[in-house]
Amino acid sequence: MITLPALPYQYNALVPFIDEETMRIHHTKHHQAYIDKLNLVLEKYPLLQSDSVDSLLQKLETLPMEPKDKIQLNNNGGGHSNHTFFWSIMGTTKHVDPDLSKKISATFGSVDAFKKAFTEGALQHFGSGWMWLVENSNKELLLYSTPNQNSPHLSGHTPKITLDLWEHAYYLAYQNRKADYIKNWWNVVSVI
Ligand code: MN
Repeated sequence: MITLPALPYQYNALVPFIDEETMRIHHTKHHQAYIDKLNLVLEKYPLLQSDSVDSLLQKLETLPMEPKDKIQLNNNGGGHSNHTFFWSIMGTTKHVDPDLSKKISATFGSVDAFKKAFTEGALQHFGSGWMWLVENSNKELLLYSTPNQNSPHLSGHTPKITLDLWEHAYYLAYQNRKADYIKNWWNVVSVI
């Protein structure tokens, strides 16, 4: 049984950029719901339970599962993996990865140019989904968004930075002001 991992900070830690109620509902209701549904599908496949969710997503296509269960694993395993990673790259204490910052500057010209490109991608994404900075198997950085709860692990990519673009991530405080949510969110990104 997978259980909800604790947030690495308090629910009010990201105030005023992300409000406490949003964080509490997002973690205890939305993230928990993905875990509950993930456990329901994994119950049927005891042999898969010893593998990590990220690893299962990496080899989703070849897993011996019923098609409808693969969709559940894609959606709810992705939901669990994406949220766990999202919580980890935010915080009030900087955990700057110097190698990542260096690589971002080499790829995009500067950290500011990267932020601009990431922000544009997030604004252009239509509907629910996630914006990503990932590393591919050639150790190159890529920017793209995914719909719904699709994970970069499905493509064998390693997440480096992500932003939740579902309305549940910002609607209580920002309503339709997605651009303000994205702009303010950069203040709580801890890894660059
Ligand atoms: Mn979310």
